[in-house]
Amino acid sequence: MATKRDYYEVLGVDKNATEADIKSAFRKKAKEFHPDLNKDDPNAAEKFKEAQEAYSVLSDENKRKMYDQYGHAGVDNSAGSAGFGGFQGGFSTSDFDFGDIFDTIFGSGGGFGGFSNFGGSSQTRASRGSDVLMRMELDFAEAIYGTEKKFSLDVVEDCDECHGRGGFDKEDCKTCHGKGTITSQQHTILGSFMSQSTCPDCNGKGYTFKRKCSECNGKGKIKKKKNLTINIPAGVKTGDRQRVSGKGNPGSNGGSNGDLYIEFIVDDHEYFVRENDDIYLEVPLTLTEAILGCKKSIPTLYGNLKINISSGTNSNDKQRIKGKGVDNKFTHHKGDMYIIFKVYTPTRLTREQKNLIEKLAETNLENDEIKEFNKFTANND
Ligand SMILES: [Zn+2]
Ligand SMILES: [Zn+2]
Repeated sequence: MATKRDYYEVLGVDKNATEADIKSAFRKKAKEFHPDLNKDDPNAAEKFKEAQEAYSVLSDENKRKMYDQYGHAGVDNSAGSAGFGGFQGGFSTSDFDFGDIFDTIFGSGGGFGGFSNFGGSSQTRASRGSDVLMRMELDFAEAIYGTEKKFSLDVVEDCDECHGRGGFDKEDCKTCHGKGTITSQQHTILGSFMSQSTCPDCNGKGYTFKRKCSECNGKGKIKKKKNLTINIPAGVKTGDRQRVSGKGNPGSNGGSNGDLYIEFIVDDHEYFVRENDDIYLEVPLTLTEAILGCKKSIPTLYGNLKINISSGTNSNDKQRIKGKGVDNKFTHHKGDMYIIFKVYTPTRLTREQKNLIEKLAETNLENDEIKEFNKFTANND
């Protein structure tokens, strides 16, 4: 084993850190390096284990005292071939509430587990498989009106050949004689003591197989491509998640499968802008439409709609059309539509148009705001 880093340094806390400091520092590291979450750092799993180990010592008052006094030698357990996983009475998920780490990250009550690969002591316990998060792109209309989507997904299932067992002809494990754990003697600066760790040959099961299943290479699980169909309700938006029960990672030792969560990414529309369940639409007007007012057909999510535009409309004036927003079947809420006008001043005029505008300019078009502003300009001199 390479030289171990100082446990305080691993968690990034100082020697006087309180229990709460240590817990919170560990939470941060666990989030940062959990291999299910951190796919970018190839050393994430190692760093996660390192933090886990540091936490298991520093969160235990007695172990922390020993560590403060004797360093790694005071708490080391390197003799166990199972490595840190075999730490007796060490880290297990019950020591720390992992559920809320995942709740914080995923905002889901489901709890993204996925700890079955860590900590040898939990190997024989039935544990639920971790949840899987998948992203799915939808175009604007699919999200607004709802749709049915077909997709394929790699699902890990029990191997048919060995019925999930991983082999044939069960026999007691020769290394641990069926106990699932091995006991070894530790020699430390404090004297010798016995330590127990998970058997590395049977992973704590207590049995092995005479013949390994070749279909699944002894794993008991096989990856299969599954075609799935989901019905997406009208109104989903970017970031919404839909749960597909039981299509996550497989559980271990008879535990149930995790769930699949599909997170939607919805494309923008060329004209409609969505904000929650409201729809915004910019409607261009000519100068005379804005001055004189008009009747105009405008597009909505539910076909065209003829509306009255009042005389004297300005750019950025807003008109609300009640109930023409998103009819959200996900949240059971119906939004509104907002029209925002944009008046286009003509830039190229015919001779005739220019004459007419010049005629208009001879009249007084100043309103109160313009008069007030002119006064301010005059007084500013
Ligand atoms: Zn064994
Ligand atoms: Zn098999």
